[in-house]
Amino acid sequence: MDPSTSQTPSPPTAVVEPRFLDAVETLPRPQLRALQEQRLLRMLRYAYERSALLRNNWQAAGVRPDDIRSIDDFKRLAPFTDKDQIRAFRDEHDDPFGGLLCIPPEEISFIASSSGTTGDPTLFTWRWGSSDGMDPQCPGIEAGTSNFWPNTPRDLWQMGVRAGDYVVLLANRIRGPVFRVLERLGTIPILLSYHPDDTHAFVEMSRRYRPAVLFTASNPFIYQLELLERDHGVDMREVFTSYKAVMFAGEPMGPRNRRLLEGWGLIGRIYNQTAFGDIAVAHECREHEGMHAHEDFALVELVDPQTGALIEGDGVGELCVTSLINDVDPLIRYRSGDMIRLTTEPCACGRSSARFWTVGRSGDEVVVDGRTVLPMDVWAAVENVDDTSAGLFQVIRTGRHMPALRMRVGYGGTPDLAAVQAQLVESVQRAVGLIAEIELVPYSELLKIGPRNKIPRTAKQ
Ligand SMILES: [Zn+2]
Repeated sequence: MDPSTSQTPSPPTAVVEPRFLDAVETLPRPQLRALQEQRLLRMLRYAYERSALLRNNWQAAGVRPDDIRSIDDFKRLAPFTDKDQIRAFRDEHDDPFGGLLCIPPEEISFIASSSGTTGDPTLFTWRWGSSDGMDPQCPGIEAGTSNFWPNTPRDLWQMGVRAGDYVVLLANRIRGPVFRVLERLGTIPILLSYHPDDTHAFVEMSRRYRPAVLFTASNPFIYQLELLERDHGVDMREVFTSYKAVMFAGEPMGPRNRRLLEGWGLIGRIYNQTAFGDIAVAHECREHEGMHAHEDFALVELVDPQTGALIEGDGVGELCVTSLINDVDPLIRYRSGDMIRLTTEPCACGRSSARFWTVGRSGDEVVVDGRTVLPMDVWAAVENVDDTSAGLFQVIRTGRHMPALRMRVGYGGTPDLAAVQAQLVESVQRAVGLIAEIELVPYSELLKIGPRNKIPRTAKQ
């Protein structure tokens, strides 16, 4: 008798889904710091040997990896780097990788670039399946995973995304490799672009496949959807029925767009995404209380943007990051130019990592009559005027100190421009107490000057 047929089938066991994808997400902070230190010391030796820019900077500062035996030593001694240095090194040495590349170029799998909002686009380089001992060793990270995006599966898991789900990926530039991450998670990517024509495809695909995630919406994309609803009677609430998460990126979501999306039934399902200092992207968790900095991948520091001094503890400052697991083009003590508010208070979701909120770019603030104004400060004021409600605007900035607040604001349709101007001046004055000089241009003009997912929020003229 076949023994396999004599056994009684075991009762089905309930599958308990883990709350977190990786155990490291809830590592107590002292242990997290120990893990960071171990990775940092290894990374410094690795990168010093291979990254021409790092060696250049450290030799100029008279510091060697051997001088650094702890995170405290690193904070005391390590020189900073930034995007301008990388660009300058690139131009001076005719090195397209700006002195960052730590592997032979022939091992690169592919290259993508940032959107170039602040000038030259930054290159990001990937190698799939690296196996030289510098692979991420964190629990839950599969060997050979590209180390640029390992946090994204964790964050998608938090949003409730599971194998078999369809994910609409509005792929542009830097996010290109995300489709590989989505495949590894067992989801099925639907690739679309930010082009306005693709918003029709987005509606059609959403109805046909009932996707779980939109990765990622942006202000201009939402504006296109709003036009479809208004001009073609598309029921956006119905389109978004199946979505567990609509991720939002490029720039902060203004209050008006939030109200609009919530009206489409997405309350609690909107997840902000932001750059994590060019090391990765960061997302909100289910608590929607700041974006999680996955600190097993990067050491996070806050710097005073004016003096360059380190800010100890939580607070507001420029985000400075150090790669802990990237063996391709690690960034070491990289000042991102992003102004953030940082907290290490425990999150209600149970993760132990720090969280942050982007408050602007360190080079974006203007000072008028002693008042500091960031684009975020006038955002809602622009959105609250009906004819400029898409929130497409720029602050004109020829220097940090400006004699007046000058803005270029986009409008839709063919409104009475004098009336729009008067409403904007009043709305901006209510928000920041300054009488702004406003130039009105059609939306289409502003959308020409930036990438499709966002426009530069400051302009020199
Ligand atoms: Zn959380």
